[in-house]
Amino acid sequence: MSSKKTETDVILIGAGIMSATLGTLLKELVPDWNITVFEKLSEAGEESSNEWNNAGTGHAALCELNYTVEKPDGSVDISKAIKINEQFQVSMQFWSYLVNNNLIRNPQDFIRPLPHMSLVQGEENVTFLKKRFEAMSNNPLFKGMEFSDDPEKLLEWIPLIMQGRTSDEPIAATRIDSGTDVNFGALTRMLFNHLKTKNIEINYNHRVDDIKRADDGSWEVKVKNLESGRVERHTAKFVFIGGGGGSLPLLQKSGIPEGKHIGGFPVSGIFLVCKNPEVVEQHHAKVYGKAKVGAPPMSVPHLDTRYIDNKKTLLFGPFAGFSPKFLKTGSMLDLVHSVKPNNVLTMLAAGAKEMPLTKYLIQQVMLSKEQRIEELREFIPNAKSEDWDLVVAGQRVQVIKDTETGGKGTLQFGTEVITSADGSIAALLGASPGASTAVHVMLEIIKKCFPQHMKTWEPKIKEMIPSYGLKLMENPELLREIHASTAEALGLEDKKQTDSERKTHLLQEV
Ligand SMILES: Cc1cc2nc3c(=O)[nH]c(=O)nc-3n(C[C@H](O)[C@H](O)[C@H](O)COP(=O)(O)OP(=O)(O)OC[C@H]3O[C@@H](n4cnc5c(N)ncnc54)[C@H](O)[C@@H]3O)c2cc1C
Repeated sequence: MSSKKTETDVILIGAGIMSATLGTLLKELVPDWNITVFEKLSEAGEESSNEWNNAGTGHAALCELNYTVEKPDGSVDISKAIKINEQFQVSMQFWSYLVNNNLIRNPQDFIRPLPHMSLVQGEENVTFLKKRFEAMSNNPLFKGMEFSDDPEKLLEWIPLIMQGRTSDEPIAATRIDSGTDVNFGALTRMLFNHLKTKNIEINYNHRVDDIKRADDGSWEVKVKNLESGRVERHTAKFVFIGGGGGSLPLLQKSGIPEGKHIGGFPVSGIFLVCKNPEVVEQHHAKVYGKAKVGAPPMSVPHLDTRYIDNKKTLLFGPFAGFSPKFLKTGSMLDLVHSVKPNNVLTMLAAGAKEMPLTKYLIQQVMLSKEQRIEELREFIPNAKSEDWDLVVAGQRVQVIKDTETGGKGTLQFGTEVITSADGSIAALLGASPGASTAVHVMLEIIKKCFPQHMKTWEPKIKEMIPSYGLKLMENPELLREIHASTAEALGLEDKKQTDSERKTHLLQEV
Protein backbone atom coordinates (compact mmCIF):
# COMPACT_ATOMS: atom_id res chain seq x y z
CA MET A 1 0.00 0.00 0.00
CA SER A 2 1.47 3.33 -1.02
CA SER A 3 0.54 6.31 1.14
CA LYS A 4 3.09 8.86 2.43
CA LYS A 5 4.40 11.34 -0.18
CA THR A 6 6.88 14.18 0.40
CA GLU A 7 8.91 16.66 -1.62
CA THR A 8 12.34 17.85 -0.56
CA ASP A 9 15.46 19.52 -1.95
CA VAL A 10 17.90 16.69 -1.33
CA ILE A 11 17.56 12.98 -0.61
CA LEU A 12 20.58 11.12 0.78
CA ILE A 13 20.35 7.34 0.49
CA GLY A 14 22.33 5.54 3.21
CA ALA A 15 23.64 6.76 6.55
CA GLY A 16 27.34 6.00 6.11
CA ILE A 17 30.30 8.40 6.21
CA MET A 18 29.67 9.59 2.63
CA SER A 19 26.07 10.77 3.16
CA ALA A 20 27.07 12.16 6.57
CA THR A 21 29.84 14.21 4.94
CA LEU A 22 27.73 15.43 2.00
CA GLY A 23 24.82 16.35 4.30
CA THR A 24 27.12 18.27 6.64
CA LEU A 25 28.81 20.14 3.78
CA LEU A 26 25.48 21.08 2.18
CA LYS A 27 24.01 22.26 5.49
CA GLU A 28 26.99 24.61 5.90
CA LEU A 29 26.65 25.90 2.33
CA VAL A 30 22.86 26.22 2.12
CA PRO A 31 21.32 25.94 5.60
CA ASP A 32 17.77 26.43 4.33
CA TRP A 33 17.73 23.44 1.95
CA ASN A 34 15.59 20.55 3.14
CA ILE A 35 17.45 17.26 3.34
CA THR A 36 15.94 13.82 3.95
CA VAL A 37 17.95 10.66 4.66
CA PHE A 38 16.79 7.06 4.19
CA GLU A 39 18.75 4.26 5.87
CA LYS A 40 17.65 0.65 5.82
CA LEU A 41 19.35 -0.22 9.12
CA SER A 42 18.32 1.04 12.54
CA GLU A 43 21.38 3.28 13.10
CA ALA A 44 23.98 5.34 11.25
CA GLY A 45 27.42 3.96 10.34
CA GLU A 46 26.57 0.27 10.64
CA GLU A 47 27.95 -0.99 7.32
CA SER A 48 31.47 -0.29 5.90
CA SER A 49 31.83 2.91 7.93
CA ASN A 50 31.50 1.00 11.20
CA GLU A 51 34.71 0.83 13.23
CA TRP A 52 34.76 -3.00 13.23
CA ASN A 53 34.11 -3.19 9.48
CA ASN A 54 37.06 -1.15 8.20
CA ALA A 55 40.71 -0.73 9.17
CA GLY A 56 40.41 2.82 10.52
CA THR A 57 43.51 4.04 8.71
CA GLY A 58 43.55 7.73 7.98
CA HIS A 59 44.84 7.02 4.45
CA ALA A 60 47.42 9.74 3.77
CA ALA A 61 49.73 7.42 1.79
CA LEU A 62 52.28 7.45 4.60
CA CYS A 63 52.60 3.66 4.83
CA GLU A 64 50.55 1.95 2.08
CA LEU A 65 53.06 0.49 -0.35
CA ASN A 66 50.46 -0.02 -3.10
CA TYR A 67 50.23 3.77 -3.57
CA THR A 68 53.86 3.95 -4.73
CA VAL A 69 54.99 1.83 -7.64
CA GLU A 70 58.41 1.02 -9.01
CA LYS A 71 58.75 2.24 -12.58
CA PRO A 72 60.56 0.18 -15.27
CA ASP A 73 63.63 2.47 -14.89
CA GLY A 74 63.84 1.51 -11.22
CA SER A 75 62.66 4.86 -9.84
CA VAL A 76 59.64 5.06 -7.54
CA ASP A 77 56.52 6.90 -8.71
CA ILE A 78 54.97 8.73 -5.75
CA SER A 79 52.36 10.73 -7.69
CA LYS A 80 49.42 8.66 -6.39
CA ALA A 81 50.72 9.00 -2.83
CA ILE A 82 50.87 12.79 -3.28
CA LYS A 83 47.29 12.86 -4.56
CA ILE A 84 45.94 10.80 -1.67
CA ASN A 85 47.87 12.78 0.93
CA GLU A 86 46.50 16.07 -0.47
CA GLN A 87 42.97 14.60 -0.34
CA PHE A 88 43.44 13.51 3.27
CA GLN A 89 44.53 17.06 4.20
CA VAL A 90 41.12 18.21 2.89
CA SER A 91 39.37 15.86 5.35
CA MET A 92 41.62 17.02 8.20
CA GLN A 93 40.75 20.66 7.50
CA PHE A 94 37.01 20.03 7.34
CA TRP A 95 37.01 17.96 10.55
CA SER A 96 39.02 20.77 12.23
CA TYR A 97 36.47 23.35 11.03
CA LEU A 98 33.67 21.26 12.55
CA VAL A 99 35.51 20.98 15.88
CA ASN A 100 36.55 24.65 15.98
CA ASN A 101 32.93 25.68 15.39
CA ASN A 102 31.56 23.26 18.01
CA LEU A 103 29.57 21.38 15.39
CA ILE A 104 31.21 18.19 16.66
CA ARG A 105 33.11 17.77 19.93
CA ASN A 106 35.77 15.54 21.52
CA PRO A 107 37.86 14.79 18.42
CA GLN A 108 39.79 12.12 20.40
CA ASP A 109 36.61 10.02 20.14
CA PHE A 110 37.20 9.67 16.39
CA ILE A 111 40.84 10.51 15.62
CA ARG A 112 44.11 9.67 17.38
CA PRO A 113 47.74 10.21 16.40
CA LEU A 114 49.47 6.96 15.54
CA PRO A 115 52.78 6.26 13.77
CA HIS A 116 52.34 4.82 10.28
CA MET A 117 55.00 2.34 9.21
CA SER A 118 55.84 0.24 6.14
CA LEU A 119 57.69 -3.00 6.80
CA VAL A 120 59.42 -5.21 4.23
CA GLN A 121 61.69 -8.25 4.19
CA GLY A 122 64.14 -9.50 1.57
CA GLU A 123 66.91 -7.64 -0.23
CA GLU A 124 64.82 -6.53 -3.22
CA ASN A 125 62.03 -5.16 -1.03
CA VAL A 126 64.49 -3.36 1.26
CA THR A 127 66.07 -1.68 -1.78
CA PHE A 128 62.60 -0.62 -2.97
CA LEU A 129 61.66 0.76 0.44
CA LYS A 130 64.86 2.77 0.64
CA LYS A 131 64.25 4.26 -2.82
CA ARG A 132 60.66 5.01 -1.85
CA PHE A 133 61.87 6.72 1.32
CA GLU A 134 64.35 8.82 -0.66
CA ALA A 135 61.62 9.88 -3.11
CA MET A 136 59.14 10.76 -0.35
CA SER A 137 61.12 12.15 2.56
CA ASN A 138 62.14 15.34 0.73
CA ASN A 139 58.53 16.12 -0.11
CA PRO A 140 56.91 18.49 2.42
CA LEU A 141 53.78 16.29 2.51
CA PHE A 142 55.80 13.40 3.98
CA LYS A 143 58.04 15.44 6.27
CA GLY A 144 59.31 13.50 9.25
CA MET A 145 59.50 10.11 7.53
CA GLU A 146 62.35 7.97 8.85
CA PHE A 147 63.96 4.82 7.43
CA SER A 148 65.83 2.07 9.21
CA ASP A 149 67.26 -1.31 8.34
CA ASP A 150 68.99 -1.61 11.71
CA PRO A 151 67.40 -4.46 13.73
CA GLU A 152 68.18 -2.61 16.99
CA LYS A 153 66.28 0.47 15.85
CA LEU A 154 63.41 -1.71 14.57
CA LEU A 155 63.26 -3.45 17.93
CA GLU A 156 62.77 -0.03 19.51
CA TRP A 157 60.06 0.90 16.98
CA ILE A 158 58.17 -2.42 16.79
CA PRO A 159 59.18 -4.72 19.65
CA LEU A 160 56.26 -7.11 19.16
CA ILE A 161 57.24 -7.67 15.53
CA MET A 162 60.99 -7.98 16.11
CA GLN A 163 61.03 -10.22 19.20
CA GLY A 164 61.53 -13.90 18.40
CA ARG A 165 62.45 -13.19 14.76
CA THR A 166 64.92 -15.85 13.66
CA SER A 167 65.17 -15.14 9.93
CA ASP A 168 68.41 -13.48 8.85
CA GLU A 169 66.78 -11.99 5.75
CA PRO A 170 67.32 -8.22 5.48
CA ILE A 171 64.41 -6.28 7.01
CA ALA A 172 63.61 -2.57 6.92
CA ALA A 173 60.87 -0.13 7.83
CA THR A 174 59.86 3.47 7.40
CA ARG A 175 58.11 5.34 10.17
CA ILE A 176 56.23 8.62 10.24
CA ASP A 177 54.67 9.88 13.44
CA SER A 178 52.06 12.13 11.83
CA GLY A 179 49.80 9.17 10.93
CA THR A 180 46.32 8.74 12.40
CA ASP A 181 43.85 6.10 13.50
CA VAL A 182 40.34 7.22 12.56
CA ASN A 183 37.16 5.74 14.00
CA PHE A 184 34.91 6.35 10.99
CA GLY A 185 31.93 4.78 12.75
CA ALA A 186 32.16 7.26 15.63
CA LEU A 187 32.65 10.14 13.18
CA THR A 188 29.60 9.07 11.13
CA ARG A 189 27.44 8.95 14.27
CA MET A 190 28.76 12.35 15.41
CA LEU A 191 27.93 13.89 12.03
CA PHE A 192 24.40 12.44 12.03
CA ASN A 193 23.87 13.67 15.61
CA HIS A 194 24.93 17.11 14.44
CA LEU A 195 22.65 16.91 11.39
CA LYS A 196 19.68 16.07 13.62
CA THR A 197 20.09 19.50 15.21
CA LYS A 198 19.96 21.08 11.75
CA ASN A 199 16.46 19.91 10.92
CA ILE A 200 17.46 17.08 8.68
CA GLU A 201 14.89 14.32 8.52
CA ILE A 202 16.67 11.03 9.15
CA ASN A 203 14.56 7.93 8.54
CA TYR A 204 16.09 4.71 9.86
CA ASN A 205 14.59 1.31 8.96
CA HIS A 206 13.65 2.76 5.57
CA ARG A 207 14.90 0.87 2.53
CA VAL A 208 15.03 2.55 -0.87
CA ASP A 209 13.72 0.07 -3.44
CA ASP A 210 13.45 2.16 -6.60
CA ILE A 211 14.43 5.50 -8.14
CA LYS A 212 12.60 6.96 -11.13
CA ARG A 213 12.82 10.25 -12.99
CA ALA A 214 9.61 12.29 -12.62
CA ASP A 215 8.13 14.30 -15.52
CA ASP A 216 9.50 17.61 -14.15
CA GLY A 217 13.08 16.21 -14.05
CA SER A 218 13.11 15.62 -10.29
CA TRP A 219 13.57 12.12 -8.81
CA GLU A 220 10.95 9.95 -7.19
CA VAL A 221 12.31 7.51 -4.65
CA LYS A 222 10.23 4.51 -3.62
CA VAL A 223 10.91 3.63 -0.01
CA LYS A 224 9.74 0.78 2.20
CA ASN A 225 9.26 1.55 5.89
CA LEU A 226 10.60 -1.71 7.31
CA GLU A 227 8.80 -1.26 10.63
CA SER A 228 5.30 -0.60 9.34
CA GLY A 229 5.66 -2.31 5.97
CA ARG A 230 4.27 0.84 4.35
CA VAL A 231 5.54 1.93 0.92
CA GLU A 232 6.30 5.64 0.58
CA ARG A 233 7.17 7.89 -2.35
CA HIS A 234 9.42 10.90 -1.90
CA THR A 235 10.63 13.33 -4.54
CA ALA A 236 13.72 15.51 -4.57
CA LYS A 237 15.54 17.79 -6.98
CA PHE A 238 18.83 16.10 -6.09
CA VAL A 239 19.51 12.52 -4.96
CA PHE A 240 22.80 11.14 -3.62
CA ILE A 241 23.12 7.37 -3.70
CA GLY A 242 25.43 6.76 -0.73
CA GLY A 243 24.45 3.15 -0.19
CA GLY A 244 28.05 1.83 -0.04
CA GLY A 245 27.92 -1.65 -1.59
CA GLY A 246 24.19 -1.04 -2.11
CA SER A 247 24.82 1.89 -4.45
CA LEU A 248 25.28 -0.06 -7.69
CA PRO A 249 21.80 -1.69 -7.73
CA LEU A 250 20.20 1.71 -7.01
CA LEU A 251 22.25 3.42 -9.70
CA GLN A 252 21.07 0.74 -12.15
CA LYS A 253 17.45 1.39 -11.13
CA SER A 254 17.83 5.12 -11.86
CA GLY A 255 18.38 4.16 -15.51
CA ILE A 256 20.83 7.01 -16.21
CA PRO A 257 23.11 6.22 -19.17
CA GLU A 258 26.21 7.00 -17.08
CA GLY A 259 25.33 4.02 -14.85
CA LYS A 260 25.30 1.51 -17.68
CA HIS A 261 28.10 -0.98 -18.56
CA ILE A 262 29.27 -0.95 -14.93
CA GLY A 263 29.45 -4.02 -12.73
CA GLY A 264 30.51 -4.78 -9.18
CA PHE A 265 32.93 -7.34 -7.75
CA PRO A 266 32.39 -7.93 -4.03
CA VAL A 267 35.35 -8.63 -1.77
CA SER A 268 34.78 -9.69 1.82
CA GLY A 269 37.15 -9.24 4.73
CA ILE A 270 38.17 -10.84 8.02
CA PHE A 271 40.29 -9.36 10.83
CA LEU A 272 42.14 -11.12 13.62
CA VAL A 273 41.52 -9.19 16.87
CA CYS A 274 43.83 -9.57 19.84
CA LYS A 275 42.13 -10.24 23.16
CA ASN A 276 45.27 -10.32 25.31
CA PRO A 277 45.82 -6.81 26.80
CA GLU A 278 49.51 -7.58 27.46
CA VAL A 279 50.09 -8.16 23.75
CA VAL A 280 48.02 -5.11 22.78
CA GLU A 281 50.19 -2.91 25.02
CA GLN A 282 53.40 -3.98 23.25
CA HIS A 283 52.48 -2.39 19.95
CA HIS A 284 51.83 1.22 19.00
CA ALA A 285 51.62 1.80 15.22
CA LYS A 286 49.95 0.86 12.00
CA VAL A 287 52.43 -1.40 10.23
CA TYR A 288 51.68 -2.11 6.58
CA GLY A 289 53.42 -4.93 4.73
CA LYS A 290 53.48 -5.81 1.03
CA ALA A 291 50.66 -7.64 -0.75
CA LYS A 292 51.54 -11.20 -1.72
CA VAL A 293 52.05 -11.92 -5.44
CA GLY A 294 48.60 -12.33 -7.06
CA ALA A 295 46.80 -10.75 -4.10
CA PRO A 296 44.62 -7.67 -4.64
CA PRO A 297 45.83 -4.36 -3.15
CA MET A 298 43.09 -4.38 -0.49
CA SER A 299 44.50 -7.57 1.04
CA VAL A 300 47.79 -5.94 2.08
CA PRO A 301 48.33 -7.31 5.58
CA HIS A 302 48.73 -4.79 8.38
CA LEU A 303 49.08 -4.90 12.13
CA ASP A 304 47.23 -1.97 13.60
CA THR A 305 46.82 -0.39 16.97
CA ARG A 306 43.22 0.83 17.01
CA TYR A 307 41.17 2.95 19.37
CA ILE A 308 37.62 1.64 19.50
CA ASP A 309 35.21 2.84 22.20
CA ASN A 310 38.20 4.75 23.60
CA LYS A 311 39.96 1.44 24.27
CA LYS A 312 43.31 0.49 22.73
CA THR A 313 43.07 -2.71 20.70
CA LEU A 314 45.11 -4.61 18.09
CA LEU A 315 43.86 -5.85 14.72
CA PHE A 316 45.59 -7.83 11.97
CA GLY A 317 44.33 -8.21 8.43
CA PRO A 318 42.08 -7.76 6.63
CA PHE A 319 42.17 -11.17 4.95
CA ALA A 320 40.28 -10.69 1.69
CA GLY A 321 37.75 -13.26 0.58
CA PHE A 322 34.89 -13.84 -1.82
CA SER A 323 31.22 -13.46 -0.97
CA PRO A 324 28.48 -12.61 -3.48
CA LYS A 325 26.92 -10.08 -1.03
CA PHE A 326 27.23 -6.36 -1.78
CA LEU A 327 26.69 -5.35 1.85
CA LYS A 328 27.51 -7.23 5.06
CA THR A 329 23.75 -7.19 5.65
CA GLY A 330 23.10 -7.93 1.96
CA SER A 331 21.78 -10.98 0.09
CA MET A 332 23.62 -13.95 -1.48
CA LEU A 333 21.84 -12.99 -4.72
CA ASP A 334 23.30 -9.43 -4.88
CA LEU A 335 25.96 -10.32 -7.45
CA VAL A 336 23.59 -12.29 -9.70
CA HIS A 337 20.95 -9.55 -9.55
CA SER A 338 23.51 -6.92 -10.55
CA VAL A 339 24.05 -8.57 -13.95
CA LYS A 340 21.96 -6.67 -16.50
CA PRO A 341 21.75 -6.81 -20.30
CA ASN A 342 23.85 -3.62 -20.50
CA ASN A 343 26.72 -4.93 -18.32
CA VAL A 344 26.66 -8.66 -19.00
CA LEU A 345 29.55 -8.53 -21.51
CA THR A 346 31.59 -6.32 -19.17
CA MET A 347 30.94 -8.77 -16.32
CA LEU A 348 31.78 -11.82 -18.44
CA ALA A 349 35.01 -10.21 -19.66
CA ALA A 350 35.95 -9.43 -16.04
CA GLY A 351 35.04 -12.97 -15.00
CA ALA A 352 37.43 -14.41 -17.58
CA LYS A 353 40.20 -11.91 -16.77
CA GLU A 354 39.93 -12.12 -13.02
CA MET A 355 39.79 -15.93 -12.69
CA PRO A 356 43.10 -16.04 -10.77
CA LEU A 357 41.85 -13.31 -8.40
CA THR A 358 38.53 -15.11 -7.83
CA LYS A 359 40.46 -18.34 -7.19
CA TYR A 360 42.74 -16.51 -4.76
CA LEU A 361 39.78 -14.99 -2.89
CA ILE A 362 37.98 -18.33 -2.64
CA GLN A 363 41.18 -19.94 -1.29
CA GLN A 364 41.39 -17.11 1.25
CA VAL A 365 37.82 -17.74 2.43
CA MET A 366 38.71 -21.41 3.02
CA LEU A 367 41.67 -20.59 5.33
CA SER A 368 41.34 -22.03 8.83
CA LYS A 369 42.02 -19.89 11.88
CA GLU A 370 45.38 -21.70 12.33
CA GLN A 371 46.38 -20.84 8.73
CA ARG A 372 45.51 -17.20 9.39
CA ILE A 373 47.58 -17.27 12.59
CA GLU A 374 50.49 -18.60 10.49
CA GLU A 375 50.19 -15.44 8.33
CA LEU A 376 50.05 -13.33 11.48
CA ARG A 377 53.32 -14.98 12.61
CA GLU A 378 55.05 -13.32 9.63
CA PHE A 379 54.37 -10.12 11.64
CA ILE A 380 54.41 -11.42 15.23
CA PRO A 381 56.66 -14.49 15.32
CA ASN A 382 55.50 -15.40 18.85
CA ALA A 383 51.75 -14.97 18.19
CA LYS A 384 49.60 -17.45 20.11
CA SER A 385 46.34 -18.60 18.58
CA GLU A 386 44.44 -18.35 21.88
CA ASP A 387 45.15 -14.59 22.03
CA TRP A 388 43.25 -13.89 18.80
CA ASP A 389 39.64 -14.00 17.61
CA LEU A 390 38.25 -13.75 14.07
CA VAL A 391 35.94 -10.84 13.26
CA VAL A 392 34.07 -10.38 9.96
CA ALA A 393 34.81 -6.99 8.33
CA GLY A 394 32.74 -5.03 5.81
CA GLN A 395 32.15 -5.80 2.13
CA ARG A 396 33.92 -3.82 -0.58
CA VAL A 397 32.32 -3.74 -4.00
CA GLN A 398 35.03 -3.00 -6.55
CA VAL A 399 33.88 -1.39 -9.78
CA ILE A 400 34.15 -3.30 -13.06
CA LYS A 401 34.04 -1.20 -16.21
CA ASP A 402 35.39 -0.95 -19.73
CA THR A 403 38.45 1.27 -19.92
CA GLU A 404 40.72 2.40 -22.72
CA THR A 405 43.88 1.06 -21.10
CA GLY A 406 42.50 -2.12 -19.53
CA GLY A 407 39.88 -3.01 -22.15
CA LYS A 408 36.51 -4.63 -21.50
CA GLY A 409 35.65 -5.64 -17.95
CA THR A 410 38.52 -4.02 -16.07
CA LEU A 411 38.53 -4.22 -12.28
CA GLN A 412 39.01 -0.83 -10.61
CA PHE A 413 40.40 -0.50 -7.11
CA GLY A 414 39.61 3.18 -6.56
CA THR A 415 36.53 5.27 -5.90
CA GLU A 416 34.18 6.14 -8.76
CA VAL A 417 31.76 9.04 -8.73
CA ILE A 418 28.93 8.67 -11.25
CA THR A 419 26.71 11.67 -11.94
CA SER A 420 23.94 12.28 -14.45
CA ALA A 421 24.62 14.83 -17.20
CA ASP A 422 22.28 17.36 -15.55
CA GLY A 423 23.83 16.80 -12.09
CA SER A 424 20.51 15.84 -10.48
CA ILE A 425 21.71 12.45 -9.24
CA ALA A 426 25.09 11.15 -8.08
CA ALA A 427 26.34 7.81 -6.82
CA LEU A 428 29.53 6.75 -5.13
CA LEU A 429 30.97 3.35 -6.02
CA GLY A 430 34.18 1.58 -4.97
CA ALA A 431 35.93 1.67 -1.63
CA SER A 432 39.47 2.92 -1.82
CA PRO A 433 41.02 5.09 -0.40
CA GLY A 434 37.55 5.21 1.07
CA ALA A 435 36.32 7.06 4.11
CA SER A 436 39.59 9.00 4.54
CA THR A 437 38.94 10.98 1.38
CA ALA A 438 35.17 11.41 1.89
CA VAL A 439 35.39 15.22 2.08
CA HIS A 440 37.37 15.54 -1.16
CA VAL A 441 35.00 13.14 -2.97
CA MET A 442 31.86 14.88 -1.71
CA LEU A 443 33.29 18.26 -2.77
CA GLU A 444 33.84 16.78 -6.23
CA ILE A 445 30.17 15.78 -6.30
CA ILE A 446 29.12 19.27 -5.20
CA LYS A 447 31.27 20.81 -7.94
CA LYS A 448 29.89 18.50 -10.62
CA CYS A 449 26.23 18.66 -9.56
CA PHE A 450 25.87 22.30 -8.50
CA PRO A 451 28.13 24.26 -10.89
CA GLN A 452 25.64 27.16 -10.90
CA HIS A 453 26.19 27.70 -7.14
CA MET A 454 29.95 27.29 -6.96
CA LYS A 455 30.78 30.98 -7.26
CA THR A 456 28.54 31.80 -4.30
CA TRP A 457 29.65 28.80 -2.27
CA GLU A 458 33.40 29.07 -2.84
CA PRO A 459 34.14 31.60 -0.05
CA LYS A 460 32.43 29.33 2.50
CA ILE A 461 34.25 26.27 1.13
CA LYS A 462 37.54 28.15 1.51
CA GLU A 463 36.61 29.12 5.06
CA MET A 464 36.06 25.42 5.85
CA ILE A 465 38.98 24.13 3.78
CA PRO A 466 41.64 26.84 3.42
CA SER A 467 43.61 24.82 0.85
CA TYR A 468 40.56 24.34 -1.43
CA GLY A 469 41.63 24.63 -5.08
CA LEU A 470 45.35 24.73 -4.18
CA LYS A 471 48.05 22.08 -4.23
CA LEU A 472 49.57 21.98 -0.75
CA MET A 473 52.78 20.48 -2.09
CA GLU A 474 53.31 23.70 -4.04
CA ASN A 475 52.43 25.87 -1.03
CA PRO A 476 54.75 24.70 1.76
CA GLU A 477 53.94 27.68 4.01
CA LEU A 478 50.20 26.95 3.84
CA LEU A 479 50.92 23.24 4.39
CA ARG A 480 52.90 24.07 7.55
CA GLU A 481 50.01 26.23 8.81
CA ILE A 482 47.47 23.53 8.02
CA HIS A 483 49.53 20.79 9.69
CA ALA A 484 49.81 22.95 12.80
CA SER A 485 46.18 24.11 12.91
CA THR A 486 44.63 20.69 12.21
CA ALA A 487 46.93 19.01 14.77
CA GLU A 488 45.82 21.57 17.35
CA ALA A 489 42.09 21.37 16.55
CA LEU A 490 42.04 17.57 16.43
CA GLY A 491 44.27 17.07 19.46
CA LEU A 492 47.09 15.45 17.49
CA GLU A 493 49.85 17.76 18.70
CA ASP A 494 53.00 16.80 20.56
CA LYS A 495 52.88 13.26 19.27
CA LYS A 496 54.38 14.24 15.92
CA GLN A 497 58.09 13.89 16.60
CA THR A 498 60.90 12.60 14.50
CA ASP A 499 63.46 10.27 16.01
CA SER A 500 65.90 13.13 16.49
CA GLU A 501 63.20 15.19 18.18
CA ARG A 502 62.40 12.21 20.40
CA LYS A 503 66.11 11.98 21.30
CA THR A 504 66.33 15.73 21.98
CA HIS A 505 63.33 15.44 24.31
CA LEU A 506 64.89 12.51 26.11
CA LEU A 507 68.19 14.40 26.53
CA GLN A 508 66.32 17.45 27.81
CA GLU A 509 64.50 15.26 30.31
CA VAL A 510 67.82 13.76 31.49
C1 LIG B 1 37.64 -4.29 5.21
C2 LIG B 1 37.61 -2.82 4.92
C3 LIG B 1 38.66 -2.02 5.32
C4 LIG B 1 38.64 -0.65 5.05
N1 LIG B 1 39.64 0.14 5.54
C5 LIG B 1 39.58 1.47 5.37
C6 LIG B 1 40.55 2.29 5.99
O1 LIG B 1 41.44 1.82 6.68
N2 LIG B 1 40.47 3.63 5.77
C7 LIG B 1 39.50 4.18 4.99
O2 LIG B 1 39.52 5.39 4.82
N3 LIG B 1 38.56 3.41 4.40
C8 LIG B 1 38.57 2.08 4.59
N4 LIG B 1 37.61 1.29 4.03
C9 LIG B 1 36.61 1.90 3.14
C10 LIG B 1 35.53 2.62 3.91
O3 LIG B 1 35.06 1.82 4.97
C11 LIG B 1 34.39 2.95 2.95
O4 LIG B 1 34.90 3.63 1.83
C12 LIG B 1 33.34 3.86 3.57
O5 LIG B 1 32.96 3.41 4.85
C13 LIG B 1 32.15 3.90 2.64
O6 LIG B 1 31.17 4.73 3.21
P1 LIG B 1 29.73 4.80 2.57
O7 LIG B 1 28.99 5.82 3.32
O8 LIG B 1 29.84 4.94 1.10
O9 LIG B 1 29.14 3.32 2.78
P2 LIG B 1 28.59 2.57 4.08
O10 LIG B 1 29.27 2.96 5.32
O11 LIG B 1 28.57 1.12 3.73
O12 LIG B 1 27.13 3.12 4.21
C14 LIG B 1 26.13 2.83 3.25
C15 LIG B 1 24.81 2.81 3.97
O13 LIG B 1 23.76 2.71 3.00
C16 LIG B 1 22.77 1.83 3.50
N5 LIG B 1 22.01 1.33 2.35
C17 LIG B 1 22.48 0.54 1.35
N6 LIG B 1 21.49 0.30 0.47
C18 LIG B 1 20.39 0.96 0.92
C19 LIG B 1 19.06 1.09 0.45
N7 LIG B 1 18.64 0.48 -0.67
N8 LIG B 1 18.19 1.84 1.16
C20 LIG B 1 18.59 2.47 2.30
N9 LIG B 1 19.83 2.36 2.81
C21 LIG B 1 20.73 1.63 2.12
C22 LIG B 1 23.57 0.77 4.24
O14 LIG B 1 22.77 0.09 5.18
C23 LIG B 1 24.67 1.61 4.90
O15 LIG B 1 24.32 2.05 6.17
C24 LIG B 1 37.57 -0.08 4.31
C25 LIG B 1 36.50 -0.88 3.92
C26 LIG B 1 36.50 -2.23 4.24
C27 LIG B 1 35.32 -3.07 3.87
